[in-house]
Amino acid sequence: MTKNEIVQGAYAMVQSLQDDLRTAEREERARQHEAWLAKGGCDRCGGRGWIVAWDTLDSMSGCYAEYGSCPEGDKCTAQTVGADPGYYDHKYDRLRWHTDTFVSTPALKAAEQELKDWQETLRAAQDDAKVAKGKIIKVVRGRKVPQGTIGECIWLGAGRGYSYYDRGSDRVGLKDSSGTVHWTAASNCEVV
Ligand SMILES: [Zn+2]
Repeated sequence: MTKNEIVQGAYAMVQSLQDDLRTAEREERARQHEAWLAKGGCDRCGGRGWIVAWDTLDSMSGCYAEYGSCPEGDKCTAQTVGADPGYYDHKYDRLRWHTDTFVSTPALKAAEQELKDWQETLRAAQDDAKVAKGKIIKVVRGRKVPQGTIGECIWLGAGRGYSYYDRGSDRVGLKDSSGTVHWTAASNCEVV
């Protein structure tokens, strides 16, 4: 298994764990929403006691929104029934100092930790696979240097930056076992 394959494997793992966590969180929120409704929570205001009465669509932040009390009456306050943990609306809740009442579960926390661990693994694998001076690298692409040539990276030069869009490519010099130094683009090489 090459170092790049390890990076790809770790990346796929992170993606799949992220998807699983998002699904699990959504399901848990739905479950808590149902439980909250069963306790008599007001679906109109989500237990907040206020609703958005008007908002100009021009403002992404909701800072021009106007609010009104919930038409359902006094029973609808965060103090009496608690806010719906089924959702949290960043746009308005943040402005109204309403905090997310969703309660994480041990299973979700464990899944978060597992994701964090794999993100760490991915970073380490990416670092490991990055061409750098002193590492043993192999030419796997390109035409000028025979593919399969292996040697120590004795020089790494950053791209010159021809323009904002074209940063140029990093160049490397690798010294093979006979002492010959080959020059090529870093993107043609893989760390062995
Ligand atoms: Zn209400």
